Amino acid sequence: THLRKMSTMEAIVVEKQGGLDALLLKKWPRPEVIENTIVVKNHSIGINYIDTYHRSGVYTLATPFIPGREGAGEVVQVGPGVTDFKVGDRVAYLSTASYAEYTRVSLEHVAKIPTHVSYETAAAAVLQGLTAWTMVRDGYPVKAGDYVLVHAAAGGVGLLLCQMCAHLGAHVIGTVSTDAKAELARGNGAKYVINYSHENVALRVSEITGGLGCHAVLDGVGASTWETSLAAVRRLGTVISFGNASGVVPPISLLTLSQKNIKLMRPTLFQYIVTPEEFNKWWGELFGLLEQKKLKVKVHKIYKLEDVRSAHEDLEGRKTTGKLLLKL
Ligand code: NDP
Repeated sequence: THLRKMSTMEAIVVEKQGGLDALLLKKWPRPEVIENTIVVKNHSIGINYIDTYHRSGVYTLATPFIPGREGAGEVVQVGPGVTDFKVGDRVAYLSTASYAEYTRVSLEHVAKIPTHVSYETAAAAVLQGLTAWTMVRDGYPVKAGDYVLVHAAAGGVGLLLCQMCAHLGAHVIGTVSTDAKAELARGNGAKYVINYSHENVALRVSEITGGLGCHAVLDGVGASTWETSLAAVRRLGTVISFGNASGVVPPISLLTLSQKNIKLMRPTLFQYIVTPEEFNKWWGELFGLLEQKKLKVKVHKIYKLEDVRSAHEDLEGRKTTGKLLLKL
């Protein structure tokens, strides 16, 4: 017998999908490099709302698994066939299994980060930034003068959407649940902010837009905002439903859309970055905005890996603004 001692690492593992207790800190086998992959030692790990769906079972995954969809760190191993990366490169990536010391990353969704962009900024910007930028450039190409409604405007994706729409010349209307969040949304480009804990969103949108409604409604909240989104969009306008923070939107009748000839979209980032050309285009544009300081990321808090349960609790409890990160 020649059992090679397997090297281990610290990782968060889900053995059974469920509540916060489903997140277990474990010693886990360290990934080995294989052909056309690299292994990254994570310095900063982005937390996304999708991680809570994976943990809870809103999206079913085979267990056990390490959650986490993005990170930034240094390349420590390079597999056969890899020519674009070397040990020591600073990279950011989208991949599975990022809640760990090390992640094996295939080459589709990884790129080097500019020297003056920190690991934190890169890990905070990639998934939410690409989601927001593809939405406002392709999902609904935002134009100067448009009225755009952004739900959960002080959230991770929300703050980026506010900045991007304002940068493109739109009048941004944000919705939030607290006054502190309202102030933050305003500071990030929302010209109008509606606090939906005590204001009627559809009514306020109607007042702001002279009764016409918004050219586009960007809705990552889902079940609880769906009806408001339909009410707030104008004739010939676009509703983009891109998330389920309050629950999945129930099935709808297509005839609902004919009341105003509404265009409806339900995108996922990953279908925008299937080919290398697509990935490079969107990534290049996003990092261009960051480098030109046209876009800022706002980090809510950096949690230790072992405190990941608090991070999920805060995110699901609507206590956060901007981006949540993990560090080792
Ligand atoms: P956020 O930081 O936006 O957090 C969610 C926010 O939603 C809360 O802060 C809260 O803001 C609002 N919210 C309203 N109702 C609820 C509720 N019942 N429970 C929890 N939150 C609620 O998260 P992210 O930026 O990470 O993600 C935003 C959305 O975008 C998510 O739905 C996510 O799944 C989606 N997404 C979709 C992608 C795609 O490819 N389609 C990619 C990335 C994200 P407030 O207190 O102001 O109401």
